[in-house]
Amino acid sequence: MLYDLHTHSYCSDGQLSPAELVTLARRQGVTVLALTDHDTLDGIAEAQQAALEPFDAVANEVLDDAMENTTSEDTTSEDTNTNNYKPLTIITGIELSTQWRGRGIHIIGLNIDIDSPVLKAAIHAQTQTRIQRAETIAQRLEKAGVKDALAGAKRHAGGGAIGRPHFAQYMVDSGYVSTIPQAFKRYLGAGKVGDVKQCWPDIDEAVKWIVQAGGIAVLAHPDKYDLTRTKLYELLGDFSEAGGRGMEVVSGHQDKSVTLKLARAADDFSLLASCGSDFHSPKNTWQAVGRYSPLPESCTPVWTQFT
Ligand code: AMP
Ligand code: MN
Ligand code: MN
Ligand code: MN
Repeated sequence: MLYDLHTHSYCSDGQLSPAELVTLARRQGVTVLALTDHDTLDGIAEAQQAALEPFDAVANEVLDDAMENTTSEDTTSEDTNTNNYKPLTIITGIELSTQWRGRGIHIIGLNIDIDSPVLKAAIHAQTQTRIQRAETIAQRLEKAGVKDALAGAKRHAGGGAIGRPHFAQYMVDSGYVSTIPQAFKRYLGAGKVGDVKQCWPDIDEAVKWIVQAGGIAVLAHPDKYDLTRTKLYELLGDFSEAGGRGMEVVSGHQDKSVTLKLARAADDFSLLASCGSDFHSPKNTWQAVGRYSPLPESCTPVWTQFT
């Protein structure tokens, strides 16, 4: 079994359609995939449908184009033989934007009921928040000298959940910066003008939505928040108290020391361990679908609770 419990499609800030993502996951040997787009469930039905089909030739072709200029030692011509594709199970998922003590924190919901009225209402509110937030980001960027950012970001979002990566893409296209990381470093990252997060709900609220939708709340990539050990433990305490049951012990390729630190924290709070690539695009080879550092044996994997 190969799990990837954190991935994105173009329904939020990923590059591939849900069907293309499913095809790529199969190529990579993934057997259980969670689509966890930012604040939306729009891609789930397509992913579920694609997983039922033996082989999506159209998606595979589009994927070949998307993967052009990408070298991956994991993708050989043999892998593209449809006979090698194993069945794929889709786990319903979402990555909710929240805040905790003024910091932006991401909480993953796994195995959620996508028809839950509570969750649907929450997502509607998150969508409205994203739209208003995009306007605020654009106004702030305008003051910093970046013109027409809202229209540009909307073009990149293409009707999906609009976010900072779409602003970053626009800024690269328009020559304000030369790379996406540079856009975050100068304009959109933590503490910069375009970092707007006060609008998001508290972690408790997001955990409650996930629990009410019958899912498991998992703290996403705990090492990405730049927290001291004391602060991380305070966050994990608050998260557990709110009903959070898991944390990502492994997110993509990470140092062994980080993995061991997070495995220890999961153990200290009796949290289930999750792992995933946080895949967004085939061009990012360090966040490839189904590829991440190993989960320590001491952990209790979150999938032991999947029914
Ligand atoms: P948002 O959902 O609008 O807050 O945007 C957050 C997303 O931006 C994350 O999920 C990442 O995909 C992306 N992101 C955050 N920081 C960086 C960075 N330093 N470089 C590139 N992408 C980033
Ligand atoms: Mn993202
Ligand atoms: Mn995230
Ligand atoms: Mn993510």
